[in-house]
Amino acid sequence: MSTSYSPVVGGDGSSRLDPREARQPLLPSLDRPASPRFLQDRFRRPYQLRQYVMPCIGVSFLALFLFLTVNSTLHPPPVGPGRRTALELATGNILSDLQGDSIVWDRLAEMTDLFGPRISGGESLERSIDWMMTMMTQEDNLMVWTEKVQVDVWERNEESLELLLPSRPPVPLPMLGLGGSVATAGGNGSIEAEVLVVQDVEELMKLGNETISGKIVLFDDDNWKHYGDSVKSRVYGAREAERFGAVGVLVRSVTPFSLGVPHAGSMLGANIPAAAITVEDSQYIRRVWERHGKADHSASPFAHLFEIPKGATSRNIIAEIPGRSRPEDIIVLGGHIDSWDVGTGAMDDAAGFFAAWHALRAISHLKEPPLRTIRVVGWVAEERGQFGAKAYAKKHAAEIPHHIFAMESDTGVFQPWGLSVTGSEEAVDYLSAAGQHYLGHIGAGNITSSDSSGADVAPLCQEGVPCASFLSLDPITQESPLDSGLDGYFYYHHTRADTVAALKPKELALASAAMGIWAYLVAEMVQSLPRDDKADA
Ligand SMILES: [Zn+2]
Repeated sequence: MSTSYSPVVGGDGSSRLDPREARQPLLPSLDRPASPRFLQDRFRRPYQLRQYVMPCIGVSFLALFLFLTVNSTLHPPPVGPGRRTALELATGNILSDLQGDSIVWDRLAEMTDLFGPRISGGESLERSIDWMMTMMTQEDNLMVWTEKVQVDVWERNEESLELLLPSRPPVPLPMLGLGGSVATAGGNGSIEAEVLVVQDVEELMKLGNETISGKIVLFDDDNWKHYGDSVKSRVYGAREAERFGAVGVLVRSVTPFSLGVPHAGSMLGANIPAAAITVEDSQYIRRVWERHGKADHSASPFAHLFEIPKGATSRNIIAEIPGRSRPEDIIVLGGHIDSWDVGTGAMDDAAGFFAAWHALRAISHLKEPPLRTIRVVGWVAEERGQFGAKAYAKKHAAEIPHHIFAMESDTGVFQPWGLSVTGSEEAVDYLSAAGQHYLGHIGAGNITSSDSSGADVAPLCQEGVPCASFLSLDPITQESPLDSGLDGYFYYHHTRADTVAALKPKELALASAAMGIWAYLVAEMVQSLPRDDKADA
């Protein structure tokens, strides 16, 4: 598909951008504060609309030419230069509403200071939802409500791990039992067994029962490529080790960098306990094991934690601005409001939700609602298995054909870079052109495409809704996510270092504005962003 598509971002069926214009540097008018009078005229007086439609006949020939050239199945109407100006004013206002204001960071700090970590099914999560609802219902022009979600309860019991060596007293090691792990000895005792070190599940499979049976298997995967690759030992390790008779599993924390803290995370079900240890301790055990191996029977007992699979009722948070002329069409953006039980989950993922919430707040300050409905969702219990996302998709199943775009932020909210888009080639092209034009000047208009989507929008993507993950620069190196693979985010991920201190007020404000602009541009398109027919089928 050609990349010469321009974003169809007009309102009221009246406009389309000239692709040459879409690639021009931003017009100075974007940087000027909008004239309230102009916006009022533009949006409220019908005769004024005609003035913007009439001068664009010449451009419509260009649109027709482009249509024939690229064999498009889309039929966008012609553009009026006034319409583009109105969009630039509106997106400029969203930016100026948030830029330089620390409200997003301040509120995020307040919420996480007050309630701390928000584990699925826990009291702190429910209290934090009450607090966020109180704040959000005070906003003008937002419809806000919650929707019930049945979730699993997470509870971390006492846990500890010691490395036993003949040369020194027992060595206590920091650990975090994995989400979904059973307790040791049914919660009534510890286990003590010889350690077997393997690189990954693949290496484990080559060893067989005789070597593995009765051991605690340590997965010391030291070949970090990216999270999706390295996380496999944590997710599948215990299940596979159990098949060969292992009595417990330890996993090296899934991170490219460590300062001696373990990283939590979930695993697939197994009947043996499993826990994460620090990168440093994983390397330590491997060194001892390679030096002495079976000779001195270095042993590693651990007593344990997580269990109690009982249900509780939690809530998704929903806030929206109904569209001014196509309210049935919905643009969704958001993040998950639960977290792990270490740190305060400010980065993962309260920041994603707070940025989306304040993006909607900035849009609500415009003179006129967006053409389509813009809806923010705070999904609950993502860490436990996307309970909130599944509940949302089920409850809103009849609306899914009218979901135009679903954007999730769950990889950190730092200096904004752009979007990773899952959807049709046409959708990628449209967003690419729109991003360069309306967000290029703040470096936030980049697009990359991906076959996999974020966890909370996945149920929508599977139904053909164009989806996106909001991406930032690496918080440590400031590299593009295409270069760093989000490595800096995983320094903090699922650790006690995930607090509001990992985030910067200016970056959070700018990212929130960028989210708002993306959502607003899609909401204002003349024709809906093309769905992914392959996913629909
Ligand atoms: Zn997350």
